Amino acid sequence: MPRSTVFAAEMAWPDYQEQVKGGDVPILIPLGSMEQHGHHMPMHVDVLLPTEFARRAAEEVGGLVAPPFTYGYKSHQKSGGGNFFPGTTSLDGASLVNALKDVVKEFVRHGARNLCIVNGHFENSWFITEAIDLALRELDWADIHDVKFVVLSYWDFVDQASIEKLYPNGFHGWDIEHGGVLETSLMLRLHPELVSLQNAVEHAPATFPPYDVYPAKPDWTPASGTLSSPKEATAEKGDLLLEVCTKGIVKALQDEFS
Ligand code: ZN
Ligand code: MN
Repeated sequence: MPRSTVFAAEMAWPDYQEQVKGGDVPILIPLGSMEQHGHHMPMHVDVLLPTEFARRAAEEVGGLVAPPFTYGYKSHQKSGGGNFFPGTTSLDGASLVNALKDVVKEFVRHGARNLCIVNGHFENSWFITEAIDLALRELDWADIHDVKFVVLSYWDFVDQASIEKLYPNGFHGWDIEHGGVLETSLMLRLHPELVSLQNAVEHAPATFPPYDVYPAKPDWTPASGTLSSPKEATAEKGDLLLEVCTKGIVKALQDEFS
């Protein structure tokens, strides 16, 4: 029977329980942030994109998508512009670690044994690792030893052939893609009504010295808040990204959760 929704929180609890209790149905948890994304995009890009990749992957593998984490770890200057921007609203690392640890243990209590964190905000990465490490340790103490996690960030599935198509004039690395071609192309395909490309600020790719300073120096970040220009973004590039990343995520889940 086709399922009416893959979003766990849209289900009534008995239907949800029926799917989760056996442990075979993967739970996909999108993790994002509330973070400025330049003059041309809204501040929940890092939530919308991993949620859509989670939805597409869940459809393919028979998984369920948990409500996304809409706040993440603090924006870093070299990958998100910096936490000093108005609008950017972040958690302390310990808060994110504890919240994610609590949530994954709840899904395990419901019966889930295969969980996937679908990350959409680079700065979350090591806090996800820590939350899972602590959760696995506590589950071990509770004599639960059969829980497996897959942790991924969707952009890591973009292969070299796709990079050449997306960035014919040269690729400068994922860290300075904040608000650039990757995210803007996906948003143009998925949520064009939320993108105002005419407001995008054209600028050279951001460059930083090979060290960090704290407090951050706002002057290091382009004033627009983006770290590379989104002007070359297109909905067609969004299609390419949706295809290659969804395919890669689905394969990862099939390989690891079979
Ligand atoms: Zn982003
Ligand atoms: Mn981000």
